[in-house]
Amino acid sequence: ARGGTALLVTGGVAPNRSGWLGPLGARLASPRHVRKHRQITAAVHEHDGRICLQILHAGRYGYHPLVVAPSAIKSPISPFRPRAMTARGIRGTIRDFADTAARAREAGYDGVEVMGSEGYLLNQFLARHTNRRDDEWGGDFAGRSRLPTEIVRRVREAVGPDFIVVCRLSVLDLVPDGSTFQQVLALARDVEAAGATLLNTGIGWHEARVPTIATMVPRAAFAFATEALRDAVGIPVVASNRINTPDVAERLIAEGQADMVSMARPLLADPDFVVKTRAGETDRINTCIGCNQACLDHIFSRKTVSCLVNPRAGNETKMATGRAKQARSVAVVGAGAGGLAAAVAAAERGHRVTLFEASDRIGGQLNYARAVPGKSEFGETLRYYTHEVERLGVDLRLETEATARAISDGGFEHVVLASGVVPRVPAIEGIDHPSVVSYVAVLGGRVEVGDRVAVVGAGGIGFDVAEFVTHDPAVRDDDLDAYFETWGIDRTLTHPGGLLPDGGRPHASPREVFLLQRSPGKLGAGLGKTTGWIHRATLG
Ligand code: SF4
Repeated sequence: ARGGTALLVTGGVAPNRSGWLGPLGARLASPRHVRKHRQITAAVHEHDGRICLQILHAGRYGYHPLVVAPSAIKSPISPFRPRAMTARGIRGTIRDFADTAARAREAGYDGVEVMGSEGYLLNQFLARHTNRRDDEWGGDFAGRSRLPTEIVRRVREAVGPDFIVVCRLSVLDLVPDGSTFQQVLALARDVEAAGATLLNTGIGWHEARVPTIATMVPRAAFAFATEALRDAVGIPVVASNRINTPDVAERLIAEGQADMVSMARPLLADPDFVVKTRAGETDRINTCIGCNQACLDHIFSRKTVSCLVNPRAGNETKMATGRAKQARSVAVVGAGAGGLAAAVAAAERGHRVTLFEASDRIGGQLNYARAVPGKSEFGETLRYYTHEVERLGVDLRLETEATARAISDGGFEHVVLASGVVPRVPAIEGIDHPSVVSYVAVLGGRVEVGDRVAVVGAGGIGFDVAEFVTHDPAVRDDDLDAYFETWGIDRTLTHPGGLLPDGGRPHASPREVFLLQRSPGKLGAGLGKTTGWIHRATLG
């Protein structure tokens, strides 16, 4: 809120226990909870922001034994088989949504968001492949869409007319047998009539095998669907997914593709995104690069959510900010990602920072990462640090080795060692043959790569190199047509679930490539949970 975001939406709070995402999830079920939530709403209002509570029933995506769903069909992404909800249970759930909304109002929220996208319970009711009921909550689309519409209607009744009710709809399910776009429009009109104030948009269920937010998804790729929805309703429509810079957000609004834009990860990367934009200081924005490494991947490994480019995210109360009591003289050795982050953080606190870099440019491994297909966003991190190093007056010494003499002559009080990594050279017979090169030479464009390639090692770098050598260099990261074609996404909005009936068509590799892994099991098992499957599918 202090960073200028107009309307915040919390993470999902379940309306009841069976709707939890995980055991003991966040709750708003009692006067004690109401008092606790008031701390949040008061803090937001203190900075003139507005905040909605998201009410999320996970349905069969819940990770606990109490899960329920329209039909007893297990999801591919949870080990728990759900119980089919009874009609009584459905009516109770509607009541729980309405009661939670009323408590949200009591707790000082400015509105609620009914979570009806990403494949959670309301989506599960809408789609035929998860809803096999033949009672009034299933059957034809009118029956399958009864629950979301009824929830919005009852929530509106519970909170009165002067309260924001956002309904988040899945505009493209990207799963087989998902809703058609005509059904999405019908539902949108129904929830508008039922009292929704705003329509937020979600793209793809969590179980979809189409990347929708990862870095290789072109920016604002799904605005075409938001625009089509906006044309069909009378209330404002919010665009989401891979909107990470002010100019992309501005273009969507200016071209009438959406009335508002929503961001989650870009505000983890830089909570001051809006104030910097307002001040015309867009070069100062630390841009979310869509890597998922420290946000979503941390959630799945039960770690604190943070951000790869902003380690302070999620650690705000642990890491000191503001001017230090005493300015110190600090040497930072190495201007790669770690050294740049340390130098900028120290300079922001008022320390005098000298940054030593042996090569002729900053960035270290970031320079190789940005060369990988689908990872050009890393260039934004370099742009940010280039700007911040200059703005904060860091004494950057390129092509300068941080020798013992240079350090001792400089009289530094602190030395931060961030000299980076040296690629490991395994003891394999023939490793010194001229045809064997390191990833640094390949990604750095220093060697001509032949037509048959063996990549030794199937970790993150091995996959990156394999993608680099199998990629058609004519296809750029922002090529929307190539992205839609590769993943079989229906731009015409005529096929169920937004998927082309014949599936995707990956581009042919210009080379024959072998990816070698020493350990048994599936390739790249150690890659990030939310992106590893994309890399495997891309190379498959
Ligand atoms: Fe964005 Fe990566 Fe940070 Fe997540 S970890 S917020 S995807 S930059």
